[in-house]
Amino acid sequence: MAEQTGLKNRGYARADVEERRIAAEEFTGADLENISKYGFEPESASKNIENMIGTIQIPLGYAGPVTVNGDHAKGSILVPLATTEGALVASISRGMSVINTGGGANVMVFNDAMTRAPVLKVDDLMHSRRVMDWIDSNMDAIHAEVASTTSHGRLVEIERFPDGRNLFLRFSFSTGDAMGMNMATIASEAVCRLIERETGAVMVSVSGNMCSDKKPAAINMICGRGKTVVAEARIPKDVVESRLHATAAAITETNIRKNLVGSSMAGTLGANAHAANMVAALYIATGQDPAQVVGGSMTLTTCEDIDGDLYICVRMPAVEVGTVGGGTRLPCQREALAMMGCLGDGKAPRLAEIVAVTVLAGELSTLAAQAAGHLGKAHAALGR
Ligand code: NAP
Repeated sequence: MAEQTGLKNRGYARADVEERRIAAEEFTGADLENISKYGFEPESASKNIENMIGTIQIPLGYAGPVTVNGDHAKGSILVPLATTEGALVASISRGMSVINTGGGANVMVFNDAMTRAPVLKVDDLMHSRRVMDWIDSNMDAIHAEVASTTSHGRLVEIERFPDGRNLFLRFSFSTGDAMGMNMATIASEAVCRLIERETGAVMVSVSGNMCSDKKPAAINMICGRGKTVVAEARIPKDVVESRLHATAAAITETNIRKNLVGSSMAGTLGANAHAANMVAALYIATGQDPAQVVGGSMTLTTCEDIDGDLYICVRMPAVEVGTVGGGTRLPCQREALAMMGCLGDGKAPRLAEIVAVTVLAGELSTLAAQAAGHLGKAHAALGR
């Protein structure tokens, strides 16, 4: 396209964007008037997009406020959500108001490390062992190599997976407030170049897919990637009955038969009602990488009937979020982060906790709607 029109691929002045859009209109014959309307200077997207011709606008609403008792997120929080799915925001809001009646949601981040797993080509198993021995004996040099690429990233560990003439090294980094995928990639590549020079192993790809980024993967489900976050709430019996029009026993049974049995029969990674809905809406609103909904959606939802009260929990092993870098630089997304006190340094764990509480609220509301037989009715009323 750029070759055919003679246009520059890059260039973020409004005039550049306009010129490309007009060329795209001429090429496609489509009227792109709405795509041409946006309220920020395109320069602010210069690290986020190439060939920019405008923006796609997605409606933004809020759910909550929800009461959060986290290590990092505390108090009453209003959650911005970007979606085109009618009924979603209303349902999450209902879940949040019900969670509030039980004193709010408890939430904790249990693990925090971004992974990148290069694949190295080695001669044979003995060569693999020599590479691993070299790593063990040279950790100071490896840490120094990482420090030469990033000031916030810190190497936590290197897991090794030898396989014939392949050696997979799964690097884990703490990445400060960045989601960390660029940071981890750049640091891993630098370390692998050092390993190449010192051992003769050859890096075939900086991503050997054992990372595993943007692909549903058991390794992330079990070992975690990004932040492993767990959120829980206890809903009093009378509220379950009056607000959710169900019982704790019925919701628990729905969760077992649907989320646990149904998901294991389908072979899903994670067992939940629709975690991806909440993750996607919050990720899009706050400038997270939308493709990482894959990891965030690998959520396990459990319920218990405790003397008529409903206990509900979500375990999310791969919440890959940041509050600096990537799409968090964009002006609208920064405002959405600011709504939750999540903008900038020191805020990434807070955002991860809010993601988990939002998923908890959405899971609660949808499970209850299905237990009460209301799901289709709500979508018909709000979404069509
Ligand atoms: P990034 O924007 O590439 O890097 C974060 C930057 O923020 C670094 O320059 C870091 O400096 C700086 N920084 C300032 N304050 C910080 C703080 N408090 N904590 C951490 N860093 C701080 O972001 P990223 O999270 O590494 O990567 C996110 C991007 O990667 C997204 O756009 C995503 O779409 C993309 N992505 C890349 C790959 C890949 O394979 N490369 C894969 C998936 C997604 P220092 O480094 O000096 O500390």
